[in-house]
Amino acid sequence: MKHFDIIVVGGGHAGCEAAAAAARLGVSTLLITHKLGTIGEMSCNPAMGGLGKGHLIREIDALGGLIGRASDQAGIQFRVLNKKKGPAVQGPRAQIDRALYREAMAGAIAKIGGLALHEGEVDDLLCDKDKVIGVKLRDGLKFACSAVVLTTGTFLNGTIHLGRESFPAGRMGEASTLGLSRRLYGMGLDMGRLKTGTPPRLSARSIDFSSLAVQKGDAVPQPFSFISGPIEREQLVCSITHTNEETHDIIRKNLHVSAIYSGKIDSLGPRYCPSIEDKVVRFEERTSHQIFLEPEGIGDDTIYPNGISTSLPADIQLTFLKTISGLENVEIIQPGYAVEYDFVNPQELSHSLEVRALSGLYLAGQINGTTGYEEAAAQGLVAGANAGMSVLGRPVFELSRTLSYIGVMIDDLVMRGVTEPYRMFTSRAEFRLHLRADNADQRLTGIGIELGLVEGLRKEIYQRRKNELYLGRHMLNTLVVTPSQAKKHGVTINADGKRRSAFDLLSYPGVTLGDVKAIWKEINGISDEILLQLGVDARYAPYLERQQLDVEWVQKDELKVIPDWLDYSLVPGLSNELKDKLTRHRPRTIAHAQRLEGITPAAVLLVLATI
Ligand code: FAD
Repeated sequence: MKHFDIIVVGGGHAGCEAAAAAARLGVSTLLITHKLGTIGEMSCNPAMGGLGKGHLIREIDALGGLIGRASDQAGIQFRVLNKKKGPAVQGPRAQIDRALYREAMAGAIAKIGGLALHEGEVDDLLCDKDKVIGVKLRDGLKFACSAVVLTTGTFLNGTIHLGRESFPAGRMGEASTLGLSRRLYGMGLDMGRLKTGTPPRLSARSIDFSSLAVQKGDAVPQPFSFISGPIEREQLVCSITHTNEETHDIIRKNLHVSAIYSGKIDSLGPRYCPSIEDKVVRFEERTSHQIFLEPEGIGDDTIYPNGISTSLPADIQLTFLKTISGLENVEIIQPGYAVEYDFVNPQELSHSLEVRALSGLYLAGQINGTTGYEEAAAQGLVAGANAGMSVLGRPVFELSRTLSYIGVMIDDLVMRGVTEPYRMFTSRAEFRLHLRADNADQRLTGIGIELGLVEGLRKEIYQRRKNELYLGRHMLNTLVVTPSQAKKHGVTINADGKRRSAFDLLSYPGVTLGDVKAIWKEINGISDEILLQLGVDARYAPYLERQQLDVEWVQKDELKVIPDWLDYSLVPGLSNELKDKLTRHRPRTIAHAQRLEGITPAAVLLVLATI
């Protein structure tokens, strides 16, 4: 039996990042996936990023991941969302050319040394007592390994629903995975079913775009990756149309044949991405819903109508589409459908994304109850890196909630579990003024270098930028001005006689980079890119100073590790319910224990007194 240190199952968004992260750490890695041709396939919308999700891409990129660069290579319309609001809630987003994305991701994977690929279906895990030691494929082939990362997406016991029809599949035209589902249920893991849906794909040639409003991207596309150069690819526009009362009538009359509404599916779907059936029922008072007609690629005839995912029968889909402006003669390339799949309650995992009940088994992506490419990719990176760290005998790689959205997501999953598909929002982070998309490299690339996840060009670019930011900040702190001197340059500040630095001035509303440049000519020596970043840093500095105490408080508790030997049943004063809960979850630190539902400050004090 051929042996690899790590085997990653699934070549989707989680699998690619997991395999790449493990291989970057220098451990021998095998990626096994159903079809090598679907590596990097975007199952649903042809877009990456957005609020919260864009932050995740920046963080993955800062840690050496692939999703940011692949998106930059395949992006056909870049937009920074919330541009009018502060940088903390701005999210980079891009429409993506599906074929180019697959090509970019497969190309990136192929270039990674120490990463082998195999086409096939993993049917079972090979275990020795409570440790995973390999995988068995459907064709009988076996591979031995020290750790496995499962990233099976919507394929685990997947069932597609299209109107009254249901059939086993992970995605349209692709078989579902049954053996692994049996294995995970057999282990007694807490599992459930979730669902998601996708809209019909339309032929662009059959759409009359002439009367529709258009949405353009930003004039200067901003790349996701900290190491991508300027985006030079042709940029496309999206068109906008709307459903109307006639559309809603047709949908309402046919709810009984919608897979979602006929009672066939009772699992939960993503609340923030409702199907058109859901929208018509839940928002009964609305007579219209917006639809973005998104091109799936340059020279591609396919249009993705964002906003109308559905599981109505194909003929009904066509009938309601034809009531919509611009779609009167539309042709469907592939009908919309819903897919239902198994997931594992992520409370079964530790923060490294390792299954607590089976050493060496890691889970990442949709299998953990999340939805979205970015969420999957972020977990993939963490699971792959941790699988690699375990093989190398190195400590667990865990990101704090205070430092990253990745940390927020994993902590939410592992501590709270999921009852509906989990997606990232900026509102999930307590310290979002610090967790900005613009500073993801400054927060995380240093950690990536230390771990061995980042090297080469990215390391060079990061160190150069870090150095320039340090020197620029030093200059801005050193240049000082009195209120009367500032006034001479048209900048009004409190006339208290106190001197302010250029950095202080930049934190004042209304003071621009141009203003400080006019006061101090030497600031022109700082590059625009670095100065812009320093401007953002300055703007948030007063708030971050106030937040620092809270951050330190959380970090202090994160450093208080609860020893493995602690037997909660022997902790005096703890109720039986809390003893059970702590035994089941085995929080690694006091911070984790505090975040478990129902754990009171008094219970934490009892644990602290025992360790
Ligand atoms: P996937 O991208 O699904 O990749 C899984 C990979 O594993 C595939 O390559 C598969 O072939 C492979 N695989 C599975 N089992 C095995 C096995 N046993 N052996 C070998 N290979 C295996 N996300 C949203 O954010 N919003 C949406 O509205 C949305 N709608 C969706 C609608 C549909 C119909 C589908 C299918 C997905 C939708 N998604 C949506 C989800 C999005 O596609 C996923 O969140 C994302 O792709 C998850 O990434 P992943 O890596 O976990 O899994």
